[in-house]
Amino acid sequence: MPELPEVETVARGLNKFIVGETIKSVEVLRNDSIGYPEVDSFKRLLKGHTFETTTRRGKYIIVGLSAGAALVVHLRMSGRLVLKEKKQTEKDIKASVAKNFLRVRIILVSGKELHYEDMRVFGRLWYVPSGTSVEDVVSGIASLGVEPLSHLTAEYMLDAFRGKNQPVKNALLDQRIIAGIGNIYADESLFLANINPLQPAGKLKLQQLVVLSKKIIEVLSRSIELGGTTLRDYSNLSGVNGDYQNAAHVYGRTNEKCSACGTRIERVKLAGRSSHFCPKCQPISPAIRKAHDAAAAALKESQVEARELKLAAAKKKIKRNAGAKPSESIKRRKR
Ligand SMILES: [Zn+2]
Repeated sequence: MPELPEVETVARGLNKFIVGETIKSVEVLRNDSIGYPEVDSFKRLLKGHTFETTTRRGKYIIVGLSAGAALVVHLRMSGRLVLKEKKQTEKDIKASVAKNFLRVRIILVSGKELHYEDMRVFGRLWYVPSGTSVEDVVSGIASLGVEPLSHLTAEYMLDAFRGKNQPVKNALLDQRIIAGIGNIYADESLFLANINPLQPAGKLKLQQLVVLSKKIIEVLSRSIELGGTTLRDYSNLSGVNGDYQNAAHVYGRTNEKCSACGTRIERVKLAGRSSHFCPKCQPISPAIRKAHDAAAAALKESQVEARELKLAAAKKKIKRNAGAKPSESIKRRKR
């Protein structure tokens, strides 16, 4: 999933490559990719705009357009923006749809094209008319917390985490507190700050948060320098993959030796995501660890139970339908 550094890389790429380009026409190949307005208006309204400066808010890309309008892009799980410098033939487009899941084509007057590709179709594009704020059109932006690179302080975290019993890892992933910290960067900054991801957020001392806020900024900045992290679904605008993953200390390194002390890296599930830590560099009280393991085991058990119930219900249905006449819909499809 593209995270803040990847999104920042894309924003910088747009500033480098498409400022001054004018939109000739827009083709939408998958209606679900458009968040606002409806597809026909989206295509009509974008036409004729010139690209201006792109900024980023959390993981949202805000592309400035002429006359004070904007195009907002959220890549979510697998979205990417790709600039096609060469004129696209019908064959090229067919190949892009089949291989790269091309969803939206923004054709520029210069002959270049800006492509939005998205395998899983969770990402969205919104057109924001002039005179309207992006927050009004994209509700997700309105609820975002502080920007880590420009506004994060230990005092802010102390205040935001006060009274929170949830693990600090979950609090870091909460976009309403801090915008744009994803799984990799949360794990990495916690490791560098010697804080265990299971540690209750509200129990952290100001001194620990001073270190943590510094490490978050350090990790994100370093990753931006490297052009984001290499991930299966991600490549930056010029199509070159970033390289943070090779520099990661704990993320994706379960059972490998800790770079600082040689202890094996452990993994726990938090907020549905894998969390990686060194049990020696990031100590946690046995009571908290025990409580987490017990809760995780109970959750797993309930999930297994739910799956078994679902399976039993499906089997029952199959049994009931066996021997029955083909349904209307099947007959219709055969025709
Ligand atoms: Zn260690």
